[in-house]
Amino acid sequence: MAESNAYQNALTQFDKAVAHLNLKRGIAETLRHPKRELTVNFPVKMDNGEVKLYTGYRVHHNTALGPTKGGIRYHQDVSLDEVRALAMWMTWKCSLMGLPYGGAKGGVIVDPKTLSLNELEALTRRYATEISILMNPQGDVPAPDVGTNGQIMAWIMDTYSMHNGFTLPAVVTGKPVEIGGSAGRLEATGRGVMVTARDAMQRLNMPVEGATAAVQGFGNVGSVAARTAHDMGMKVIAVTDVSGGVHNPNGLDIPALVSHLAATRSVAGFPGADSITNDELLTLKVDVLIPAALENQITSANAHKVQCKVLAEGANGPTTPEADNILNDRGIFIIPDILCNGGGVVVSYFEWVQDLQAFFWDEDEINKQLERHVTKAFAQVMLAAEKHKVDNRTAAQVLAIQRVADVTLLRGIYP
Ligand code: GLU
Repeated sequence: MAESNAYQNALTQFDKAVAHLNLKRGIAETLRHPKRELTVNFPVKMDNGEVKLYTGYRVHHNTALGPTKGGIRYHQDVSLDEVRALAMWMTWKCSLMGLPYGGAKGGVIVDPKTLSLNELEALTRRYATEISILMNPQGDVPAPDVGTNGQIMAWIMDTYSMHNGFTLPAVVTGKPVEIGGSAGRLEATGRGVMVTARDAMQRLNMPVEGATAAVQGFGNVGSVAARTAHDMGMKVIAVTDVSGGVHNPNGLDIPALVSHLAATRSVAGFPGADSITNDELLTLKVDVLIPAALENQITSANAHKVQCKVLAEGANGPTTPEADNILNDRGIFIIPDILCNGGGVVVSYFEWVQDLQAFFWDEDEINKQLERHVTKAFAQVMLAAEKHKVDNRTAAQVLAIQRVADVTLLRGIYP
């Protein structure tokens, strides 16, 4: 079904935004297509001596604003169309956040939980080598995404540096701080999500203290968003992850839930809470709903049952265009993904700048600059929504696409 194709959804959003812009047809056509796409099939030697073939991708959507930026996803459902969509969203996200970057994304079709640590390292080093023809500190800088983490970024940085003959930390962001990572990068996406949620609540005259939230996904983005919401005095009443979910209408003890997750590797079975499914979580009556997992979670099948006031898109592409129409008609305030989760790539940019200068900032400085970027983008999206009389997602894309189009014309069409 077309509704579940992330790339079709990204194109539908793009066409909707472009209808409000006065772009030349050739420019719109250019921005609608990825600039280059690489598919790699590569062997990995498994622990039992068997050789297994894996497929991966790296897509550069657009390079007008600068080097391409975007994460690498390890997931069994990765496809070329998904990577294309995620790369396109990175172009708009970097543009909206005011970063000198184009958009890219990478992915490998693999469930990383089925690999041993050795196998994960071998797969990562081989994939990094295969995409080295596109990846470098000046041209294309990956980062973590679903299924990847700081350790995987460390292996990518090491592999690239081994081929190069000396260490180049700026080839990838989201690294551990010991090897050139940035203070605050790990928390940046979840923090940015809550900066936008707070801005939205202020705009809607909703008190933050005591406001209720539900979070789908308890990985890097969801867990930090939940912790930040808890620290802001909000009541996080439900959380789900891949193995289950927990619900307590009086609010979950998030620091205790984080410890439970560390001990059991799942949020399920947390004492003092009822179990809840993903579908139930998405339709809970809450002030703020935070989908922080995968694409296509809110669709035409469940959008009419969603009961939040603010939808804060921690994930990329959690809402389909069909669902967007339903939610907008129902007056739900959507903080679109490219704005809501843009804090991650903002601090990736700070990491890259620090690596290039070999001069590191402290976490207070990082968090201050992160908040400045995110709050500014939020205000710009609100102004654009009023000016063009469009929904928040379309407003965000209008701003982002216009900037890339302007720069494309300023640079001129080569030759
Ligand atoms: N994967 C993250 C995203 O979707 C981070 C990208 C980056 O920091 O380059 O925004």
